[in-house]
Amino acid sequence: MKVLVINCGSSSLKYQLIDSQTEEVLAKGLCERIGIDGALTHQPAGKDKIQTTPAMPDHKTAIGIVLEQLTDKENGVVESLDEIGAVGHRIVHGGEKFTKSCIITEEVIKEVEECSVFAPLHNPAGLIGVRACQELMPNLPMAAVFDTAFHQTMPEKAYLYGIPRKYYDEDGIRRYGFHGTSHQFVSSEAAKMLGKDIKDLKIIVCHLGNGASVTAVKGGKSVDTSMGLTPLEGLIMGTRSGDMDPAIIEFIANKENKTASEVLNILNKESGVYGLSGGVSSDFRDVKAAKDEGNKAAAAALDAYAYRVAKYIGAYTAAMNGVDAIAFTAGLGENDNLTRAAICEYLGYLGAKIDDEKNDVHGEAAVISTEDSKVALLCVPTNEELMIARDTVALVK
Ligand code: ADP
Repeated sequence: MKVLVINCGSSSLKYQLIDSQTEEVLAKGLCERIGIDGALTHQPAGKDKIQTTPAMPDHKTAIGIVLEQLTDKENGVVESLDEIGAVGHRIVHGGEKFTKSCIITEEVIKEVEECSVFAPLHNPAGLIGVRACQELMPNLPMAAVFDTAFHQTMPEKAYLYGIPRKYYDEDGIRRYGFHGTSHQFVSSEAAKMLGKDIKDLKIIVCHLGNGASVTAVKGGKSVDTSMGLTPLEGLIMGTRSGDMDPAIIEFIANKENKTASEVLNILNKESGVYGLSGGVSSDFRDVKAAKDEGNKAAAAALDAYAYRVAKYIGAYTAAMNGVDAIAFTAGLGENDNLTRAAICEYLGYLGAKIDDEKNDVHGEAAVISTEDSKVALLCVPTNEELMIARDTVALVK
């Protein structure tokens, strides 16, 4: 079956058409500036990227254009839309309602809308994509795959915040966690790479992209994760602060005469390595280049970044009473051997030893620890779209 995977943002939309049998990506692309003017990057497998600027006043138009590209005589990858068997949608927040992926029904849409209070930008965007696909392909089954679902196995002690209980009971304020699709995919790949049953493993997955989170996966289940009610908590990220004393919010609000929302905007968009480096960049490659040129703030930002990841690894080793494998994934985790090495420098107490030669991998699956390392260290490329396609097929069949 061919599955169209859609990841819809408020003004952008990523897509992949995946052959579920071969797990091959037949075409992928990105619509940007939806509602502004419109830009499309479409890449059929094995061919060059095609960049165009068709008008995209709304998501329905954008998806219509994607479907035209997929069936295009010259650059298309299917003869007709009838070849597409299902659509899988990435939905960010499934609250406590969704513990796994599901077929999209009107009831599901209503429940996703209810979860929008925790993801006011993402969930409505995801649903716009769902509605647009329903209009354009009314007979196709569609599945929703949630970023939060994998973490619904966390025990209460991991998801409760130390604030008055009523905020959880009445309002659902708790840790939900994100990147669940990636953490699930990577932990299962890591187990396969080690030739072991995931049920017997304690794995820590470090998803280090622009957004970043760490998850403790015990026996294949998420038992703790670093992102919280929103993706702001946990690691220092590209532009997000991660953990900090909540009192800082009041301090900045008073000093700069800002509202809580305005301060949160600073913590989400102007902090992290971007903010710490004094505004060099949110892209780690730029921050590393600045460090190499002697920029001390950039060096401090990278140090703080690696240190925070190492602290979480320590915490999750404690939470699981041990760790068998640590897997690095996403943009930075897959590509940046120096950051992986910097993090692993803190792990001597675990008997974890990185092999510098094996660690010289970029974007490939590899075991990067030495033969005598007590903990397996791995580089595992994530593939959220493939995971969404797999879940979708499993539900549709
Ligand atoms: P997201 O999906 O959260 O936007 P990605 O997982 O694509 O992010 O990761 C993007 C980040 O990965 C970039 O911001 C960049 O900092 C980092 N990155 C990618 N390649 C490298 C590299 N070779 N060295 C260091 N960092 C890299």
